[in-house]
Amino acid sequence: MLQCYAENIEMDKPEICTLASGSKGNCIYVRYKDTAILIDQGLSLKELRVRANYRGIDLSQTDALFVTHEHSDHVKGVGAFARAYGVPVHLPAACMGHFKTEDGDERFFLPDDCDAEIAVKDLSVKPFRVPHDAHYTVGYRISAGREDIAVATDLGFVSDGTLARLSGCKAVVLESNHDALMLEGGRYPRMLKARIAGRNGHLSNDACAETAAALACAGAQKIILAHLSEENNTPEIAFETSRRLLAKRGVKEGDDVLLYVADQFKPSGRITI
Ligand SMILES: [Zn+2]
Ligand SMILES: [Zn+2]
Repeated sequence: MLQCYAENIEMDKPEICTLASGSKGNCIYVRYKDTAILIDQGLSLKELRVRANYRGIDLSQTDALFVTHEHSDHVKGVGAFARAYGVPVHLPAACMGHFKTEDGDERFFLPDDCDAEIAVKDLSVKPFRVPHDAHYTVGYRISAGREDIAVATDLGFVSDGTLARLSGCKAVVLESNHDALMLEGGRYPRMLKARIAGRNGHLSNDACAETAAALACAGAQKIILAHLSEENNTPEIAFETSRRLLAKRGVKEGDDVLLYVADQFKPSGRITI
């Protein structure tokens, strides 16, 4: 069954699969031709293997692991994965020392130059800084042949600079963390609410929808809503918020653009670009 699924994948097309998304763990798989990377690894090795296997993904073929920031939902399983598969880890220098890695791990610090690219065989990976309450947080734009894919989860707002980094990508994984009213009326302490809604917190559904509409107008065809709060959001509300705003801007979900919602507990399909 699993093999059948994997056999349907067109190997010469880029693909993306969210293996986990949310505050209990994040991991995104990106592949083009024979090159595969993971972005973040916040799962136990055992759980990651179960999910990858479920989608027919061979983790032993991973070429590199990229870290967005040091929060534990993004790095909990980085060291274990890197050691098990002998994979180099690329991370912001400022994150070092704020999560557990071991001396034997092969680590590379992301360049400070905002136009820097890291070549990993058939992929070219460009980090860009985003506002979030970690020591240093990045999103990634990944060039795979003629198509670009971007990942931006964990960001308080979308600056013009961030929007420029995301624009022109065929597929974007974009945070749609919370419904502003659910957060405001919810049971979180006031300080935490302010942190989440703040400029260094997480992107609301409304902010995500605005960005999704701008990106769809700039050519995005697949937008994956990610890092949903279990407390202050639902997949239906996140989806509808973006779908409605897209419609208002003349972009029809299902025809002009496809919206997906990434799940915390199970992997997405393997989405080809
Ligand atoms: Zn996170
Ligand atoms: Zn975070």
